[in-house]
Amino acid sequence: MELVFDGHNDVLLRLWRTMKGGGDPISEFLKGTAEGHIDAPRARTGGLAGGICAIYIPSGDLVLKEPDESGHYETPLAAPLDYLPSLNIAMEKASIALRLDRAGAWRLCRSTADIRKAMAEGVFAAVLHMEGCEALSADLAELDVFYAAGLRSLGPVWSRHNIFGHGVPFAYPMSPDTGPGLTDLGFELVKACNRLGILIDLAHITEKGFWDVAKTTDQPLIASHSNAHALTQVARNLTDKQMDAIRESRGLVGLNYAVTMLRPDGRDDAATPLSDMIRHIDYMVERMGIDCVALGSDFDGATVPADIQDAAGNQKLVAALGDAGYASEDIAKLCRENWLRVLGEAWHEQA
Ligand SMILES: [Zn+2]
Repeated sequence: MELVFDGHNDVLLRLWRTMKGGGDPISEFLKGTAEGHIDAPRARTGGLAGGICAIYIPSGDLVLKEPDESGHYETPLAAPLDYLPSLNIAMEKASIALRLDRAGAWRLCRSTADIRKAMAEGVFAAVLHMEGCEALSADLAELDVFYAAGLRSLGPVWSRHNIFGHGVPFAYPMSPDTGPGLTDLGFELVKACNRLGILIDLAHITEKGFWDVAKTTDQPLIASHSNAHALTQVARNLTDKQMDAIRESRGLVGLNYAVTMLRPDGRDDAATPLSDMIRHIDYMVERMGIDCVALGSDFDGATVPADIQDAAGNQKLVAALGDAGYASEDIAKLCRENWLRVLGEAWHEQA
């Protein structure tokens, strides 16, 4: 079985909802559930050996717009969130991550050595990520605390605006150039991440924000869960020009399994063949090379193809890569080695 280190999931969102509903998030992850996509038993079955786990603050009011007769849709951006309730939710999710670590349900990893050790021991290797920084204030005081709690990756924005920058809406067809980029505080956040060794994730940010990060950061450019705009024209996907910059920086793009970002018609329909996933991988490999493409499932955050279903089905994609002609060395890069390389660089580890 090919072990996968995956660049993006929302399992902490599902476990947080379980906790809010009076359930036990730790035993749900350990013992497994029929809900959602990731828990320890299903991850083991599917060779999902680890991944980047998002602290995401939900936008309660967001409902995706139904497409019109021509298949077009444009969901308005979610409203900006207030700081204190966001900080509270972020603390609750970080707490679940720390409790999972203490219970031995997963390992909270702070280095690539931690990740490799956990994977070798068969323990899910979790890296803590913040998807949209509404829980941080202008002086970034919280960043030091979250870093101490294990935070090693963040995206300045989700698909909404905050004090650091601007996100893209869920819209089809639409260019990612939908508005302004980083604010002055956003530039300060990027510099702080470079100082601390926190990976900066370009998923969800506007095209202007992408270029703002590109000209400021000393890290490889990374979009943890995005696909090719040339194949699926949603605002969340990356243009050829963005991918060229990612290639030049030796960064990567993690394939998002979200069917809305894979299908040519952008529809939210789980009856999406694995061949749509392979088409995006092929396109990105051709554009950026085999070293700059990886996986970023968005498990527990999106509708994924019915053939994959959940973490237990992850090896079906691995098999499809083999059928598509990828050599075993290339599959290892796509499935984990590329992620481990860029994480090591963003975290200032010596090669
Ligand atoms: Zn996302």
